[in-house]
Amino acid sequence: MGGLESERTVTGYAARDTSGHLSPYTYKLRNKGPEDVILRVIYCGICSADLVQMYNELGMSVYPMVPGHEVAGVVTEIGSEVKKFKVGDHVGVGRIVGSCRSCRHCNESMEQYCSKRIWTFSDVNHDGTPTQGGFASSMVVDQMFVVRIPASLPLEQAAPLLCAGVTVYSPMKHFGMTEPGKKCGILGLGGVGHMGVKIAKAFGLHVTVISSSDKKKEEALEVLGADDYIVSKDAEKMQEAAESLDYIMDTIPVAHPLEPYLALLKTNGKLVMLGVVTEPLHFVSPLLILGRRSIVGSFIGSMEETQETLDFCAEKKVSSMVEVVSLDYINTAIERLVNNDVRYRFVVDVAGSNLDK
Ligand code: NAP
Ligand code: ZN
Ligand code: ZN
Repeated sequence: MGGLESERTVTGYAARDTSGHLSPYTYKLRNKGPEDVILRVIYCGICSADLVQMYNELGMSVYPMVPGHEVAGVVTEIGSEVKKFKVGDHVGVGRIVGSCRSCRHCNESMEQYCSKRIWTFSDVNHDGTPTQGGFASSMVVDQMFVVRIPASLPLEQAAPLLCAGVTVYSPMKHFGMTEPGKKCGILGLGGVGHMGVKIAKAFGLHVTVISSSDKKKEEALEVLGADDYIVSKDAEKMQEAAESLDYIMDTIPVAHPLEPYLALLKTNGKLVMLGVVTEPLHFVSPLLILGRRSIVGSFIGSMEETQETLDFCAEKKVSSMVEVVSLDYINTAIERLVNNDVRYRFVVDVAGSNLDK
């Protein structure tokens, strides 16, 4: 594919092993095919799912690994068959950059569930080259896995929508969590959780944040717009809230008991698992049976839903709350993310870090 093209060399920040420490790494971009878009990365968010791969928690990591899958950039080149985009367009790339295009999932616009999905980094492109993510100056991505960022969205604001945003938007649409007035709990107020509050509010839901501490209370209520806030250790408040919620979006990234949260759901309520937890989770079945409750999972969203998320946020003026940092701060930012010290998403100013200079 595109064999006559001269190879482009780029620099990114890569992990070399499971320590997850990122340092500069120079590599060759894959050649541009007719359906490909080359984009200059401007901003890239740091998602907890980057850490899962960097630390090889799923046992499928490939190093050197340039993480980053909340990518907001500008198109610099297009392949001969690209009709959707032109040079200069603002575009985004999320968690996946390929799929088989012929299975049921791919045919029904659910390519995120395709068993041959290609992860944005730590995977292999169709041409055999390794995929590398957004903590790098440029990327080559198949146009099908590129979305348009509306002009009214600043790129640093748009970056977290490409993963965190669509991760909450997709299940809200799929499970009918868009009926104004329904009560939604957001469990864990991090990158994904804060988008959950904002998007749920934009759908007109009543939103209760359930957090491990009261540190984020004022901001959640006054800045993010949540209606209520419960500290999960506060037994009295948890008791008062019993059987009060229609849905809970669970974004906690570590093992935790499910019983206290299942007890907050009304009859027919749903606990939507979003956090990646690789240890078994516990609950007793009567909490489901005696209330017809369910526990469901959801993975990012389709490319169509990713575009919808961006358009919806532009239309409803939903923004993310970010702390912009430079690439040479990335290891400190990751340490702070692990220590729950970010309000609410780190976004790396990749272009401002002058990688290829
Ligand atoms: P994050 O920014 O670290 O947020 C997670 C939040 O969970 C924290 O802000 C904290 O909220 C709470 N938390 C963290 N450690 C905890 C602990 N030890 N005990 C109890 N609560 C804790 O992470 P994120 O980027 O939002 O990602 C959240 C999870 O979703 C991760 O597992 C990530 O891999 C996963 N994810 C899944 C998808 C998907 O498609 N399903 C997409 C993106 C991310 P409080 O301070 O409010 O307690
Ligand atoms: Zn497929
Ligand atoms: Zn993510």
